[in-house]
Amino acid sequence: MDIKLSDAAEQYRARVRSLLAQELPADWRGIAALSPEEREQFDRTWREFLVEQSLLAPGWPSEYGGGGLDITSHSVVAEEFARAGVPQHVLLTDPVGMTLLGPTVLHWGTEAQKQYFIPRTLSAEIRWAQGYSEPEAGSDLFGVRTRAVLDGDEWVVNGSKIWQTAGAHANWIFALVRTDPEAPKAKGLSFLLIPYDQPGVEVRAIKTMDGGAELAEVFFDNARTSADNLVGGAGNGAKVALTLLGFERGSGGIALALATKLELLRLRDAMRSFGVDDVTLRRRLADCWTSVHVMHCLALRNLTVAASGRPPGPESSISKVMMSEYRKRVTELAVDILGPRALTPTGMPSKVNLGPQPLGVDADSSTAWVADFLHARPGTVYGGSSEIQRNTIGEQVLGLPREPRPVPATKAG
Ligand SMILES: Cc1cc2nc3c(=O)[nH]c(=O)nc-3n(C[C@H](O)[C@H](O)[C@H](O)COP(=O)(O)OP(=O)(O)OC[C@H]3O[C@@H](n4cnc5c(N)ncnc54)[C@H](O)[C@@H]3O)c2cc1C
Repeated sequence: MDIKLSDAAEQYRARVRSLLAQELPADWRGIAALSPEEREQFDRTWREFLVEQSLLAPGWPSEYGGGGLDITSHSVVAEEFARAGVPQHVLLTDPVGMTLLGPTVLHWGTEAQKQYFIPRTLSAEIRWAQGYSEPEAGSDLFGVRTRAVLDGDEWVVNGSKIWQTAGAHANWIFALVRTDPEAPKAKGLSFLLIPYDQPGVEVRAIKTMDGGAELAEVFFDNARTSADNLVGGAGNGAKVALTLLGFERGSGGIALALATKLELLRLRDAMRSFGVDDVTLRRRLADCWTSVHVMHCLALRNLTVAASGRPPGPESSISKVMMSEYRKRVTELAVDILGPRALTPTGMPSKVNLGPQPLGVDADSSTAWVADFLHARPGTVYGGSSEIQRNTIGEQVLGLPREPRPVPATKAG
């Protein structure tokens, strides 16, 4: 399958390719092939280069510092970067700012919010964490209990959030908070932007099973934020939150489909390198190849919707469930191909946690494959679990009757 985008997008692709060819050394093998020292040096200048060339957020309006291009050009940049093995997001918080908060503020924010937050997100002066989940509100997102009360021209926030990806690297959090406890569950929520740098905010890292501390908890104890930092109006938080989740679930697009294809080719090379030629494993590899093509088609469909100016709707759950379930399948296959090698991993470490490794990771690195296997586990949980995605697809895409919801404990007798 070789589907071409518009002529303008293909011309832009040629421009991006030539820009990358000028910028990268002739012996470039992909970002993952760099040593830690080389990588540190690369990262120091690469983000600046992206901002200067309007490649960090090519699809954002130029009046706020974006590239002023259409969504298709944005997709072309991401795809060419995956092909060349260079990152579009340098900081750990970049995916949260660029994929989630930025598009949401551009969609729902006031002019003043766009002018303040968008350029600062691009420059990384503001680095975002996503504050949706709470200890008692994950799948039941609209059950959040963190409260915000207006006090003069400031909101006062009390409560806590959990599982913030890159939360310890952020300096602001966007949080779904309850501003009207009397209103029905979803109607009493608002979407609030809160700075970390104040006595009322405490951030604690969470240690994960791979030994990392990529997640965090955030506690609010009379934390304050300006009344101007409410996005979408008081009581409209559920709608704003769903718009952002649409961006989250449909994120990745064609670039992610390409990255999964490159990953699968690396797995094929691993199979060859280990001399594994089992017919069942070969069939599973072929089955994964089919899924990669389906995900590419889905990404093209999502791009068509986005190009028409519509924010992603409940259909984004289809991409989310397919990609996250696929990543479990392909990394389980990798571990089966490794066999006993998976128990004593050797070779270069993995370079990214969530999603396929960028170009430059050795195919026969069992360390990287085992890390991918572990990191694929939470994919069917974060951004909404697979069960929740299937409910969304059933109810909101296919129009099936609503799943029976749990009866509140007080009424259950
Ligand atoms: C790696 C990682 C990163 C994350 N990053 C962030 C982040 O940056 N910001 C943030 O706010 N949150 C983040 N989360 C939290 C994530 O959004 C929640 O874990 C997720 O929404 C599930 O909520 P929960 O953990 O409370 O599980 P629960 O909601 O308690 O669910 C437990 C189980 O019950 C099932 N279940 C629940 N309700 C239903 C239902 N109605 N029908 C069928 N099955 C159901 C679920 O599918 C799941 O299997 C992250 C999580 C992980 C693992």
